[in-house]
Amino acid sequence: DGRTFIAIKPDGVQRGLISEIVSRFERKGFKLVAIKVVIPSKEFAKKHYHDLSERPFFNGLCDFLSSGPVLAMVWEGEGVIRYGRKLIGATDPQKSEPGTIRGDLAVVVGRNIIHGSDGPRPQRMKSTYGLNQRSWL
Ligand code: ATP
Ligand code: MG
Repeated sequence: DGRTFIAIKPDGVQRGLISEIVSRFERKGFKLVAIKVVIPSKEFAKKHYHDLSERPFFNGLCDFLSSGPVLAMVWEGEGVIRYGRKLIGATDPQKSEPGTIRGDLAVVVGRNIIHGSDGPRPQRMKSTYGLNQRSWL
C-alpha cells in the first residue's frame, strides 16, 4: 500500500495545473519517486481504461487521454493509494467535495484533470508509461 500511480491528464497539463496538483500531494507529506511527461497512444489509452471498454464514453475517453501530454507520476507514503484518491475527490467533479483537487479545479466528468490508481499497477502499465521498475525503487 506504499506506492501509487497518479497522472495529470491532458486538460490538467494544458490548464497549467501541474504545480498546484503536485504541491497538494507534497504538502500532505507524500514523496514523489518517479515523474515523466508522456503522450499516450490511443492503443495505450485503451489498455489504461480497459475496465471501462463497455461504457458509452469509452472511445471519447481514450481519444481524450491520448490528445496531449500527460504527467505520469509515482507517489510514495503510508496509505497513499487510498488517501491519494481522497485528495483527488469523486470521479464527477459535481460530486467532489470542496477542498479536493477535482472539487476545487474541475467541473465536468469528462475533464476531471487527474487519474489515480485504485490499486497497485500491473508491471506492464508502469513500464509502458516509462516509469520503469528501477525508478520505482
Ligand atoms: P480515474 O480512473 O481517471 O482516476 P475514477 O477512478 O475516479 O477516475 P473511473 O470509473 O475509473 O473513475 O472512470 C475513469 C474516467 O472515465 C473518469 O476519470 C472520467 O474521466 C471518465 N468517466 C467516468 N464516467 C464518465 C461519464 N459518465 N462520462 C464521461 N466520462 C466518464
Ligand atoms: Mg479509475
